[in-house]
Amino acid sequence: MSPSNSKPAANNLDAFFMPFTANRQFKKNPRLLAKAKGVHYWTPEGRKVIDGTAGLWCVNAGHGREEIKAAIVKQLEEMDYAPSFQMGHPKSFELAARHAAMLPGDLNHAFYCNSGSEAVDSALKIALAYQRARGQGTRTRLIGRERGYHGVGFGGISVGGMVNNRKWFGSLLPGVDHLPHTHDLKRNAFSRGEPEHGVELADELERIVGLHDASNIAAVIVEPCAGSTGFLPPPKGYLKRLREICDKHGILLIFDEVITGFGRLGASFAAEKFGVVPDLMTVAKGISNATVPMGGVFVRKHIYEGLMNGPDSAIDLFHGYTYSAHPLACAAASAVLDIYRDEGLFQRAAELSAYWEDGVHSLKGTGGITDIRNLGMAAGIDFESRKDAPGARGYDTFVKAFELGLMVRQAGDCIAMSPPLIIEKNQIDEIIDITGKAIKATA
Ligand code: PMP
Repeated sequence: MSPSNSKPAANNLDAFFMPFTANRQFKKNPRLLAKAKGVHYWTPEGRKVIDGTAGLWCVNAGHGREEIKAAIVKQLEEMDYAPSFQMGHPKSFELAARHAAMLPGDLNHAFYCNSGSEAVDSALKIALAYQRARGQGTRTRLIGRERGYHGVGFGGISVGGMVNNRKWFGSLLPGVDHLPHTHDLKRNAFSRGEPEHGVELADELERIVGLHDASNIAAVIVEPCAGSTGFLPPPKGYLKRLREICDKHGILLIFDEVITGFGRLGASFAAEKFGVVPDLMTVAKGISNATVPMGGVFVRKHIYEGLMNGPDSAIDLFHGYTYSAHPLACAAASAVLDIYRDEGLFQRAAELSAYWEDGVHSLKGTGGITDIRNLGMAAGIDFESRKDAPGARGYDTFVKAFELGLMVRQAGDCIAMSPPLIIEKNQIDEIIDITGKAIKATA
């Protein structure tokens, strides 16, 4: 059948199978967003909601940016689409050069895709292909971490560490181990910034090497600061220690910076903030301010060159997407870089982060809170779980906050917050105020 001319009722929510949503519950009590500008959303009824999460950790420069719109429209008028397989278009090369110029260390090549999940699967494949190209084809094992989130591709859920994202989907990738997560309430509850304790958890990598031998291990992937499982900043020294162990054994280190990239922590990337350069870095979200879907893998010089010296000279990497380096995404991403630069948004995030930290920690004692964590312009707040209904307190707090005019993100009995980096201090006060009210209401 052709698309019908008759418009379905606007309140018919049935046909859309919503991702990561309790569809049945949602459709009885929907939360709809119809407009966005700056740090706010509006519901279809016109109710204003402050965006405490920058969408899904992605609208770093705020909503409705005219500069990005203009760049997308201009690109659309010039050329809507061009493939990047055995062809190219100038914007993709320009964008990669701009990213290379802002990346730490010798991370200097960019592979583009359309999402964080694609970026992760691409990075894992690049790591495996690189090991093979340098004559180390036995290095096939991948190591992730408990409570890691690396998107929803089969690679990503295999190295990821969230049981609900894994348990429905069969046997996943073979040859994967997991480091322990770094959330330690006994020693680190209510830490400000990076927690003091837990550097030794990186040594678990030595144990895994002892079990399999380094000659069988391709890469380790971690989020420098875990996001989706409740925002877990790394213990002091942890990432440096991981880097050292990887170097010692010839294992590649991948940072999944889908959340931390493009300013969230008050630096361009977590790699810069922590002074640890991974071999590969995955990005998405803030790369395009979420206006056009885009993801990417940034790789260091030796990775790129290793693949250029590999045996297959016709095509260097048998991997790519129809929409890799989509012209509209490249145009948007370039305009976003202009905004980040012209408004000094990464620096702004660094300057605001102390105010943010004080704000979120002022909620301590509000009602059933077991931990508050923060770093840069992000935070996580944990609640004591109800014995009969784990996750209910987190969900209720999220729903209550929305009713009171604030969007937060729920992960089990935790809520996470990560406002756009253009947020003003009085708007931070408003976020903290509403969060406190929502917590009290659900305590
Ligand atoms: N990696 C990390 C660290 C993420 O936070 C996310 C998304 N929240 C992803 C990967 C997946 O990104 P996407 O949803 O764009 O596929």
